[in-house]
Amino acid sequence: MAQEDVFKKIVSHCKEYGFVFPSSDIYDGLAAVYDYGQNGVELKNNIKQYWWQSMVLLHENIVGIDSAIFMHPTIWKASGHVDAFNDPLIDNRDSKKRYRADVLIEDQIAKYEEKIDKEVAKARKRFGDAFDEEKFRQTNPRVLEHQAKRDALHARYSEAMNKMDLDELKQIILDEEIVCPISGTRNWTDVRQFNLMFKTEVGSTADGASTIYLRPETAQGIFVNYLNVQKTGRMKIPFGIAQIGKAFRNEIVARQFIFRMREFEQMEMQFFVKPGTEMDWFKQWKKTRLAWHEALGFGDECYRYHDHEKLAHYANAATDIEFKMPFGFKEVEGIHSRTDFDLSQHAKFSGRKIEYFDPEENRSYTPYVIETSIGVDRMFLSVMCHSYQEEKLENGETRVVLKLPAPLAPVKLAVMPLVKKDGLPEKAHEIMNDLKFHFNCKYEEKDSIGKRYRRMDAIGTPYCITIDHDTLNDNCVTLRDRDTMQQTRVAISDLRALIEDKVSITSLLKKLQ
Ligand code: ATP
Repeated sequence: MAQEDVFKKIVSHCKEYGFVFPSSDIYDGLAAVYDYGQNGVELKNNIKQYWWQSMVLLHENIVGIDSAIFMHPTIWKASGHVDAFNDPLIDNRDSKKRYRADVLIEDQIAKYEEKIDKEVAKARKRFGDAFDEEKFRQTNPRVLEHQAKRDALHARYSEAMNKMDLDELKQIILDEEIVCPISGTRNWTDVRQFNLMFKTEVGSTADGASTIYLRPETAQGIFVNYLNVQKTGRMKIPFGIAQIGKAFRNEIVARQFIFRMREFEQMEMQFFVKPGTEMDWFKQWKKTRLAWHEALGFGDECYRYHDHEKLAHYANAATDIEFKMPFGFKEVEGIHSRTDFDLSQHAKFSGRKIEYFDPEENRSYTPYVIETSIGVDRMFLSVMCHSYQEEKLENGETRVVLKLPAPLAPVKLAVMPLVKKDGLPEKAHEIMNDLKFHFNCKYEEKDSIGKRYRRMDAIGTPYCITIDHDTLNDNCVTLRDRDTMQQTRVAISDLRALIEDKVSITSLLKKLQ
């Protein structure tokens, strides 16, 4: 199946099974805004818990906060967002569609890379085991031609972005003959800057009201609380502050479902270090964060680092952790070495001294910062994309199963009486009433057992138990495993120990140690 079709199926599966709904659905939705349903919210909460606990429980020197979405407007002046949080936009006059100029050019670069990959794949097929990929890439004339075009475009694009040369960005689009995917024409407007922050007003009277912004990142809430936390928590450098919360960006192009939203959630951790040690910590956090992703067991080939060449105004090193989505490798998390930019700026704009007195060195300095920043929704999407599977069964049927890592699954155990009579529902409720304190259980008595299993497969429930007539005598149930579909008879008294260990967030956290 084409990857595009797989993605469409995942999107409709998310809606059909109560994971993600378009926002304001009965009013035909609101672009790039989504709601999480009864199963989605559980999966999302589990992702957040996995992240929070990996930060705050596993690190003695990391604490959490929850800062407000509304903040003093000067914060966004200090952080550079008012002046520099812009995307270059371009319109196509025929389709009236708006695009990000940088994304159009990056897609063009990706096209050259795809051409090279196709040549390599063809050659691999032709030469079989004898294929020397490195040599092929270095010598094949067609590959070299694509590579040269790609490199030239990349160099020109990087320079234009670094200088934010809007005329040059437009010229690249014209020279590369990039067309609008809707109208197919090259009738482009000039490239303009577009600030991504949403504005609103605070205060009840029109003249007394002042403009404030919906935060475009949670990080600034951490920086402006640095002194509060450091002092009240008696924190010693190096230490980190973690936060999970909503962020808002007026994205020019909303694409790919929950990948790019206008309202989304971030999990950010700012790690304050001694100046001069930031590169070591940057490397360390790159490793730590990749290990967090890999512990989910999707396979190391699903991830790659993408080091930034164009650095944000505040950074001296940056990398993304990209995940293999059905639409290519895409950023899920950013790790940035933010220098002392933010704290220094807030010191300047607030007039407060924001420093750390290092007792070992007997001097004060402005700490440097390593940031790890991951989008909850993008993480959710990556988990969904990897877990959605269609399996051909021996009887010729297809089952749709979400092979979610058990600790992230919305429901851990479905409790099913074989029939709705003979005391089986009562027995089932008795078991559920005991287990529900330990993990999320769902009672299911409608339809045949087969149909009930399918429903649970579709929402990724790792275990189901069936209560039958024998249960009333032997106190055993049939335990069915989602992935192997194997059924085993187990004592009710053993259920908790058998399941809890596999479905707890702790089991994931232990892999990180
Ligand atoms: P992109 O280049 O895709 O716009 P970014 O580099 O601007 O992302 P950051 O500012 O580094 O993103 O934000 C950190 C993380 O927040 C990203 O890795 C991503 O997971 C998430 N994120 C950013 N923008 C959005 C969005 N519009 N919708 C959903 N998640 C987002």
